[in-house]
Amino acid sequence: MNANKGNITMLHGAGGTVMHDLVKNYIVKYFGGIGNAEVPLEALDDAAVVGDTVLKSDSHAVKPIFFPGGDIGRLAISGTVNDIAVLGAEPYALACGLVLEEGLAIADFEKILASMRQTCQEAGVGVVTGDTKVVEKGSLGGCVINVSGVGRRTEALERNLKVVKQFRSDFKARWILDSNLKPGDKILLSGTIGDHGLAVLSAQEGLSFGSSIKSDVKPLSRLIQRLLGEVGGITAMKDPTRGGLADALNEFSEKSHIGILVHEDKIPIRKDVKAACEMLGLDPLEVGNEGKIVISVVKEKAEEVLKLLKTTEEGKEAEIIGEATKDFSGVAMQTVVGGKRIIQRPVGDPVPRIC
Ligand code: MG
Repeated sequence: MNANKGNITMLHGAGGTVMHDLVKNYIVKYFGGIGNAEVPLEALDDAAVVGDTVLKSDSHAVKPIFFPGGDIGRLAISGTVNDIAVLGAEPYALACGLVLEEGLAIADFEKILASMRQTCQEAGVGVVTGDTKVVEKGSLGGCVINVSGVGRRTEALERNLKVVKQFRSDFKARWILDSNLKPGDKILLSGTIGDHGLAVLSAQEGLSFGSSIKSDVKPLSRLIQRLLGEVGGITAMKDPTRGGLADALNEFSEKSHIGILVHEDKIPIRKDVKAACEMLGLDPLEVGNEGKIVISVVKEKAEEVLKLLKTTEEGKEAEIIGEATKDFSGVAMQTVVGGKRIIQRPVGDPVPRIC
């Protein structure tokens, strides 16, 4: 009982292997195996499924609470909406728990609430219940926001599953899960990576990268419903947040027991983000995003999904970046110089408190 197991460190909240170990060895140990979920806690997907309802809870502690391209309120709504949306569900109600730090300016509080309202309108969902607490001045950095939410099945999801079955007769999944990939599936990325992490880092450190790197934080639920309903064939989706694309691809690979090969020259990345990462010694594949989706789609539908993505504001820089394969396990990248590099799950996102 008194064995020294150390203390919680910042790395325990940074995505990657350290956080995954904490979740598996402690959270799943105590919460796993009880309750009634079709997609349970121990599946460690973006959200859980209870009956025909998708359920998600996500707390946001980004530092600072305002950063280029967004703020903690926009992040809190988008984070929960996107985790519900990537299972194929449409978010239809949210709950919001606010923990405010003594000293937070009312004007800033109101700015955050207005931003949350705007983001809710973009996502087509509302906050219908919640709670507010205040704590003494300390290290909170202004406030912490929890947003929980529920999502429901839609005709677009049913249509998508039907399209997958046309090409894969043994497909049984009722939801878009990390474990659904099969060799041959194409992997798409909806846009550039690293923008959010770099924008938050620049605000944390007072860095200027000689350009305006802005967070990509946005709700993607409407876009995702369009992809499911208008094209279909999507087998898995993930928002590459903490731990970035590297972590998201490793989740797919582990849970679906397949290899994933991506092509470096296909991965969209802004020139200034790439340059800033090189300067700071960061791997853009491990930096978090808040407005992107990684999509696995049956190969017969990949070009159509890409075409639709490219007609949208959120997906105009989308690319097919790779494919699932049975030739090896894990994640590998074909580099621009012609070699192959193993993409491991990062130890943790290199930027602290990005969400
Ligand atoms: Mg997620």
